[in-house]
Amino acid sequence: MATTRGEGFRQPIGLVGPFPSGAPAIFVDQCARIGGSVGMVACVGDDDFGRLNVERLRAAGADVSAVAVSPDYPTGSAFVRYRTDGSRDFVYNIAKSAAALIAATPAAEALFARAGHLHVMGTAFAIPGAWEITEEALRAVRARGGSVSFDPNLRKELLAQGQTAARFAQLIDSADLLLPSGDELFVAAGVDREAEAVAALFRRGVAEIVLKRGAEGSSVFQAGGGRFDAPAFAVEEVDPTGAGDCFGGAYVACRRLGLQPAQALEYANAAGARNVSVLGPMEGTGTRSELDDFIARTPRVA
Ligand code: ATP
Ligand code: MG
Repeated sequence: MATTRGEGFRQPIGLVGPFPSGAPAIFVDQCARIGGSVGMVACVGDDDFGRLNVERLRAAGADVSAVAVSPDYPTGSAFVRYRTDGSRDFVYNIAKSAAALIAATPAAEALFARAGHLHVMGTAFAIPGAWEITEEALRAVRARGGSVSFDPNLRKELLAQGQTAARFAQLIDSADLLLPSGDELFVAAGVDREAEAVAALFRRGVAEIVLKRGAEGSSVFQAGGGRFDAPAFAVEEVDPTGAGDCFGGAYVACRRLGLQPAQALEYANAAGARNVSVLGPMEGTGTRSELDDFIARTPRVA
């Protein structure tokens, strides 16, 4: 991460890092730290960036048995610099890195064979081989009566590419729980108004929709008609990267642990807000007691 705001990386600037990161890793870290039993299918290089990530997830209590190590390719990485308007410039090394080599290894298949739930992130669409593994995991988890959640995490532009639109639709049709943010709700539903989009997705078999609204908080809609809205926690936003992933990790873990939607939403809002108040994509993830503490001492946005 650049230590100064400005445009891009075209002259030498100060950087700080490396930080463990990647949307799925952020999700998994938060999910594990709040008490969820979670594993991840991934591939890192045989280098310090890979070790940094794997050790961090292991320390959080995540199952890293299906994180492969490539002897040939470096760990995926990203350099980010914030502009003064809050937008970001990136230099990515993902598509030609170890991250692109994820495969249905025996360890990954063993993980699918003991999972009761599958969470899919839209970032998987950026990795060519990820779709086949996703389909295999879907089949395995579904065959045992497991459930599925999906965070679209997707830009409209990507939908125009190849089979992405069809796969995106297939994932929505397979999901019990959807976690869209902003426009993704409308992209997912193909309808432009919130209530209609929610109704359209329920007709496709989704049972629960959690809508992330950044500093405006979040809402959960249930197919039976239940709805809860929660304001965001009032924090100073130091680094917004990872908010949605922390939110999702906390929400899915809480629901799997048996918490009701309103209480899961409270923890998810807290996890997102706590993470944006700290520099680094997943430096602000919290344990359940850290989040309880955060909730007790942080006011809500009025
Ligand atoms: P990302 O930007 O990581 O892709 P997202 O767009 O999927 O995230 P957001 O809506 O930005 O998701 O953030 C998820 C949740 O985190 C919000 O619903 C909110 O609860 C919390 N959050 C995010 N930003 C802030 C903020 N500035 N202040 C308080 N809470 C926040
Ligand atoms: Mg956001």
